[in-house]
Amino acid sequence: DQQMSPYKTQSELSLVNREAANKAVVISAELFDLLTTAQHIAKLSDGAFDITYASIGYQYNYRDKIRPNTSLITKALPAVDYRAIDLNKAQLTVRFTHQGMKIDLGGIAKGYAVKRCLALLEKAGVKHALVSAGGDTGLLGDKHGRAWLVGIKHPRAEHKTAVHIPLENEAISTSGDYERYFIDDGVRYHHIINPETGDSARKVVSVSVIGNDPTYVDALSTTVFVKGLKEGLTLINALPEFEAIIIDNQQGLHYSQGLQP
Ligand code: ADP
Ligand code: MG
Repeated sequence: DQQMSPYKTQSELSLVNREAANKAVVISAELFDLLTTAQHIAKLSDGAFDITYASIGYQYNYRDKIRPNTSLITKALPAVDYRAIDLNKAQLTVRFTHQGMKIDLGGIAKGYAVKRCLALLEKAGVKHALVSAGGDTGLLGDKHGRAWLVGIKHPRAEHKTAVHIPLENEAISTSGDYERYFIDDGVRYHHIINPETGDSARKVVSVSVIGNDPTYVDALSTTVFVKGLKEGLTLINALPEFEAIIIDNQQGLHYSQGLQP
């Protein structure tokens, strides 16, 4: 949080957002590695996952029901482009080649934190654990000889579970439109932004991704949420190490190939 929070003005991320459009900023190896992973997923997803979404994303305030108008979005959209992040591995620097650009790691940092927690537990000799950070869960081993049973929240009924899945030694991450949102004129504005439009993504209501790497499943759940059912499943089915469960607008459940009975 000290390093990657956009709310803490002294965080490394805030420093990058203040200075990287003017000069190359030296960052920690840890932040550099996470930015590299984020860029990899941006390429893999053809820009559906894009940490520069923040160039427009920071104009939304879900608690106060504030959203940017069309002209503000049009103005900010050119600054949403992951290709304008220039990472220099030899120098450990980051530079933005576009003015007005901001980045945010909300779609990937929690998964990364879960991964670090699991590594610490494993190092301490723990053999069985469940680490959960909201929608991001990482599992070490099994639960007393049986799989952990992980629930996916029902997207429209607060205390209900839509699906339970048995998992061990894996990670699962869920992205939904029901955690941070407000409704304006019957339209739901929530925290997952389509980088092409600068507006909330509305093709589906919940996406869970399962795989070994907590960082990747976090980012990929956000990615598939943006891509929607068809394109999202195509992406996941092309990646043998990941599976997905998608809930569409009519609350229909869809599974990637590896989860089919
Ligand atoms: P949560 O953080 O609620 O678990 P997600 O993993 O889906 O849910 O992440 C949503 C967060 O991802 C948003 O709050 C925002 O910080 C960030 N984000 C939103 N849209 C995008 C996008 N298109 N690409 C990358 N990150 C995004
Ligand atoms: Mg995510």
